[in-house]
Amino acid sequence: MEEQKATNITWHEGTVSREERQQLLNQKGVTVWMTGLSASGKSTIACILEQMLLHKKKHAYRLDGDNIRMGLNKNLGFSAEDRAENIRRIGEVAKLFADAGVIAITSFISPYKKDRDAVRAGMKPGEFIEVYVHVSLETAEKRDPKGLYKKARAGQLKGFTGIDDPYEAPEKPEILIETEKHKPDEAAKVILEYLQGRGYLQA
Ligand code: ADP
Repeated sequence: MEEQKATNITWHEGTVSREERQQLLNQKGVTVWMTGLSASGKSTIACILEQMLLHKKKHAYRLDGDNIRMGLNKNLGFSAEDRAENIRRIGEVAKLFADAGVIAITSFISPYKKDRDAVRAGMKPGEFIEVYVHVSLETAEKRDPKGLYKKARAGQLKGFTGIDDPYEAPEKPEILIETEKHKPDEAAKVILEYLQGRGYLQA
């Protein structure tokens, strides 16, 4: 993890509070953190959820693995250290979005429990909703929309989660989605109903 290099810095408190921003948007800022194997369906479900929220006039924004790796995190690879830093940065960005009153939906494999728990620890209770998007490795390999499992099996891709790098499943996720039982739109609806039921969709 990156150490803080700058000294003589002080957190600058603004005059507009988080509560005021939430009132303006009539919703609560929160992070919906999707974790699961590659091809489990994180991005697919995140896109549908974002659209469902938009139709309800709720502001959501997706932070997606590959997209972030093309920009903010383009200097990071897939070593355990880089994966940790990748997740730390995403966690910080999601926290900013949530502070702005937006529903941040992240879709990253985020395979290590320690890294996910560190993000959770940086947020207040109720601000981090862990969604375990579950699929069996067998089904993930059959789906293989980007051909990555095939490459990993052929030895052309090293350190691939589920093949030669571990995936540490969440023990107590707020939401468990089994994508072999539920279609993407059903899965998105489960998350939407969770948000609705717990009062996130109003100030
Ligand atoms: P991830 O973001 O987890 O890597 P993607 O969403 O990119 O996964 O890819 C998942 C693939 O599996 C997509 O091609 C999607 O259409 C397919 N799929 C099949 N069934 C489901 C399901 N029930 N939920 C989510 N995705 C599914």
